[in-house]
Formats: sequence, structure tokens, C-alpha cells
Amino acid sequence: MDLPTVSGHRTAHRRADLALAPGETLLAGGTWLFSEPQPEVGGLVDLTTLGWPDWEELPGVLRLGATCTVARVVAAPWGAASGLARACADSLLMSFKVQHVATVGGNLCLALPAGAMVSLAAALDASALIWTPDGGERRQSVVDFVTGAGTTTLAPGEVLRAVDVPTAALSRPTAFRRIALTPRGRAAAVVVGSGRRVFVTAATTRPVVLDLDDLEAGLAAVDCWYDDLHGPADWRAHVTGVLAREVREELGS
Ligand SMILES: Cc1cc2nc3c(=O)[nH]c(=O)nc-3n(C[C@H](O)[C@H](O)[C@H](O)COP(=O)(O)OP(=O)(O)OC[C@H]3O[C@@H](n4cnc5c(N)ncnc54)[C@H](O)[C@@H]3O)c2cc1C
Repeated sequence: MDLPTVSGHRTAHRRADLALAPGETLLAGGTWLFSEPQPEVGGLVDLTTLGWPDWEELPGVLRLGATCTVARVVAAPWGAASGLARACADSLLMSFKVQHVATVGGNLCLALPAGAMVSLAAALDASALIWTPDGGERRQSVVDFVTGAGTTTLAPGEVLRAVDVPTAALSRPTAFRRIALTPRGRAAAVVVGSGRRVFVTAATTRPVVLDLDDLEAGLAAVDCWYDDLHGPADWRAHVTGVLAREVREELGS
């Protein structure tokens, strides 16, 4: 949709370009920014011109650039986790057009419960690399970065630069379950088993990590079931339990 309050658009080419003037906001793929009115936004600063690699193989880490699109994510060298990466990318039931522009960073920073890049990154123990406005950086696990439905720890002026996935996590056995109220509906629960833990997203307002060996107690302790038109909280709690037990069985417990 048109954003009639926007009167400026800058392309960022270096880090200094990310200093935002009043009213400016960061633009990645724009799939959410252009999907609803943004009356507070007067200018856009495009991140996609920074030239960040989609991914890099660093010592011990697979780094996904924040501007890597969901479509490109699946082509990264995931090793044994390639099936999980594909399942998570497909969990975003968006048209192929959206998949080709929506970015990893946009998905994480938007922090929707059904954010499938959150599911993927959380399940693989990824950390968010965040540029701070003073020129420094900080790092935080993705599980802690997303604090609720639509909220993160990002402070004003901070930019998500990348998501670092430890390569050790890529060889762990994984299991993936997803459910929605309708066949093409938005995910109501995404349950990923990775190693000895289960990661719940979509059903909860923030990522929840459960211990496979103490699953029932962990499920009983969850205090952030999500409730919206894609599923009531009590149903989400129930189906998450069913899916988590399936994951436990698949991973051989
Ligand atoms: C048809 C359709 C279906 C969708 N289905 C789903 C779904 O199933 N699950 C789901 O989670 N979402 C869904 N979405 C929303 C989806 O999450 C977003 O569209 C997409 O992931 C956001 O990525 P983007 O690159 O387009 O972000 P943008 O729209 O460009 O930005 C989103 C927000 O993140 C901020 N931002 C972006 N990148 C950064 C960064 N690097 N650092 C700091 N801030 C940043 C922007 O300022 C903005 O506030 C859907 C959207 C559409 C249009």
C-alpha cells in the first residue's frame, strides 16, 4: 500500500548511513512495512543496499546476513539441518513473491509469534548480532532477543546485522511439526526438536525452550500461550503438547 506520510528514501551504503533522523525507519524487504499504514514514518532507510552477504561460513559459525531473503535462506550450507531450514521457510505461508523479498532480519525484528525465521534460529541456538548506535555491537541469543508478540530487545537506533548459527548445532538430529487452523492458514503452533530440547514458537508469544527429558513439567509451566484469530490459547496449548510428544518420539526418547 502507499505510505502517504513518507517523503524521503535513502539507500544505506555504510554503517554511518544507518543513523536515523526523526521519523525515519529501517526498510528491509518492505513486505510488512508496506502492508499496513505507518503514520509515524516519514522516511525510509534501505538496508538492502549495504551489500551484506546472504551468508558466510565463519570459524564455527554459519552467519546469515540480516538482509538475506527467506527464499535464499534455504540455499545456505545447512548440512543435516537443511530439511529444517526448508520446513521453516515454508512455514511462512506467503506467496513466492513475498518469500523472495522478506528478509531474515525483518522477520526477527517484527517478532510475530509465527515468525518462522525465529523458529529456525532459536532451534539452532543462533545468536543475534546487533549494531548499537554508538558504533559498537552486542550479541544475544535469538530466544532472548524476541520478548513477546511484536517485541524484541532492540533499542532505538539499533540494527540487526546478522544471525549467527553455531555449526555444531547443524549436525544435531531435528524434528519439525507445524499446525494451523486451516490448510493454508498462518502457523498456530511450530514445534522443533533439536538435540535434547524442544523449541515452541507460534503457539506462544515468545520462543519457549523445553527439556525433552522433562517435557510434561515444561509444558505445564508455559505461561505465554498466544491467543488470536489463528487459534485460541487453550487449543494451542493442547496441540503443542501433542506435537511435542511426537517430536520426542521421533527423536527417540
Ligand atoms: C502475505 C504475507 C504473509 C505473511 N505471513 C507471515 C507468516 O506466516 N509469519 C510471519 O512471521 N510473518 C508473516 N508475514 C509478515 C512477515 O514477517 C514479514 O512480511 C517479513 O518477514 C518481514 O520481513 P521484511 O524484510 O519484509 O521486513 P520489513 O517489512 O522491511 O520490516 C519489518 C520491520 O522490521 C524492521 N527491520 C527490518 N530489518 C531490520 C534490521 N536488520 N534491523 C532492525 N530493524 C529491522 C523494519 O524497520 C520494520 O519495522 C507475512 C506477510 C505477508 C505480506
